[in-house]
Amino acid sequence: MTLVNMNSIMNIFKKYILGFYELFYPNLCVACETHLLNQEKLICTKCLYNLPKTNYHKEIDNPVSQLFWGRTKIEYATAYYFFNKGSKYQDMMHKFKYNGLKEIGFELGKSFGSQIKESVFNQVDIIIPVPLHPKKLKKRGYNQSDWLAMGLSESLEKQIDTNILIRAVATDTQTRKSRFERWKNVENIFRITNPEMLEGKHILLVDDVVTTGSTLEACANVIMEIKNTKVSIAALAVA
Ligand SMILES: [Zn+2]
Repeated sequence: MTLVNMNSIMNIFKKYILGFYELFYPNLCVACETHLLNQEKLICTKCLYNLPKTNYHKEIDNPVSQLFWGRTKIEYATAYYFFNKGSKYQDMMHKFKYNGLKEIGFELGKSFGSQIKESVFNQVDIIIPVPLHPKKLKKRGYNQSDWLAMGLSESLEKQIDTNILIRAVATDTQTRKSRFERWKNVENIFRITNPEMLEGKHILLVDDVVTTGSTLEACANVIMEIKNTKVSIAALAVA
């Protein structure tokens, strides 16, 4: 047996064994896989501390807010950390989005919320996660942005609404599309079920990863059709 074959077998083995291990021994850090201390939940203190944070909440003009310049009027925009390919945090994001470990979003959301609590983000009235299409929701079982929003809601002490903004049409994956194609792909797919409830409110839109901002832009636009609304944005990571 060649070394390459052996390695891929080992990888498959590791994946399944680790999968089982996580199921029965959930007290390992989801990023570095060391044992968690009693007060730690899912992510160890060291990994949370070392998360490559952007600190964009401290500057009104930052690379995330600049994504929306000339496109739509966003009050404040930030992302918690830099999404780096191949890092242990990419793995953690994968577990959060696809492997059912939705509670990661809650823990990171709480931590994110306490970071931005003493900033302009404290001015928001209501937190709304970017919705998944019902079909995708059914397949995945949860909307990862809901969990993030719940964590943010807990530390910011702001209410959350997961029913008011809905996604009307399924879209293709955004990954292989240009910025314009991405925007065309999500334009007009969001609807507001109960516009009166948002009148005069400052809404914090929440998403997992911000790349071009097209999805968030489409959500913001449909919200801002309602009288006297303001929109700010908080993404977990910026690509
Ligand atoms: Zn760790």
